[in-house]
Amino acid sequence: MSDSPTNTLSSWVEVTKNSDFTIHNLPFGIFQNKKLSPRIGIAIGDKIVDLSILDQEGFFADMFLPGGVFLSGSLNDMIGLGKVITKKIRERVQDLLLVDNEKLRDHSARGKVMLHRKEATMLMPVKIGDYTDFYSSKEHATNVGKMFRDPENALLPNWKHLPVGYHGRASSIIPSGVPITRPKGQTKDPDGAPVFGPSKKLDFELELAFITGKSTKLGDSVSTADAEDYIFGFVLFNDWSARDIQAWEYVPLGPFLGKSFGSSISPWVVTLEALERFKVESPVQEPEVLDYLKCEKSHSFDINLEAHIQPENEKSSKVCTSNFKNMYWNVAQQLAHHTVNGCNINVGDMMASGTISGQEPDSFGSMLELSWNGENAVKLESGTERRFIEDGDTVIMKGFAEKNGIRVGFGEVKTTVLSAK
Ligand code: CA
Repeated sequence: MSDSPTNTLSSWVEVTKNSDFTIHNLPFGIFQNKKLSPRIGIAIGDKIVDLSILDQEGFFADMFLPGGVFLSGSLNDMIGLGKVITKKIRERVQDLLLVDNEKLRDHSARGKVMLHRKEATMLMPVKIGDYTDFYSSKEHATNVGKMFRDPENALLPNWKHLPVGYHGRASSIIPSGVPITRPKGQTKDPDGAPVFGPSKKLDFELELAFITGKSTKLGDSVSTADAEDYIFGFVLFNDWSARDIQAWEYVPLGPFLGKSFGSSISPWVVTLEALERFKVESPVQEPEVLDYLKCEKSHSFDINLEAHIQPENEKSSKVCTSNFKNMYWNVAQQLAHHTVNGCNINVGDMMASGTISGQEPDSFGSMLELSWNGENAVKLESGTERRFIEDGDTVIMKGFAEKNGIRVGFGEVKTTVLSAK
């Protein structure tokens, strides 16, 4: 039995109806627990499949994988084996988990292979060499342009001709669960004089990021047609932003300390293959783009996205519902543009989408837009109001795709904000 778009598979592992981690998903991640050193796992339901034990028990023997490839603190070396191999690894695990397959289900090592997710700590899935952040949502770019520039000409003249992006900071990308400290920096006081102190406009940005799975040589480019060969998978991405620091520093070279203090990601990498069935048509691009940005196929995905705020000792409230299909520029165009000048990419690079906003006010993917730069209070369920993110708040982002009863999701990225040091 294979995983085709019309085939619903089931597993001998119990998977609840709303679980993101179905047998159709099988994302890769790095975990450890009290007894086990960091290693590669695949999530299903409430369980993790320990790939290193599967390997030791000979379940991948016919693939001749390098020894110990799953006993690693990052996915990079496994991803570097290439998509042909990583697809086979995932398909082998999918096959072993099928309801009628007894090979692992009835194996004496099953207890060692299948671990509880709640007993595991999830670590950074990849060692990120370089991180790029795009700015690919038309609605987000329009909202920001209206607020800070000219409401009549919100999009700058280049925006519809190329996927705008900037080179970000890889060292401060952290996994879900690791708190973030409110940044300090220079901002402008109401009289226009520079002052120093903790940011008063701390914000999230609701994004997805893809992780590259194949390197290129300096001087080479990737076409939109080949781009998906270079994409291993996706994670949720919260691009923390200090709006007051950003507003003062960004002219003329763009984001710096208002962004580089941290970005948070979800720990399970959902593969491109798992998302294939959720492809939808890309938005019409008008004016027509230059040839190197044209696409033969669709590279847009219908993925529901949410952002929630949970103030300290209160329940959490959903503040934004958006969708990845809203993106004007797709991932193939982003990668083609990134490499068109010969810039090389490496396995484990991270390319974030930019804030994913929709057209409706409740689909805006940042507090900057939801509160319109602090003009309007955003009401939370408890009656508390927020214009930006306060100390002690936890921001939670979730994402999932669902079609014909098949669900593939990302879990969450959850981060608590600590007061400035
Ligand atoms: Ca961003």
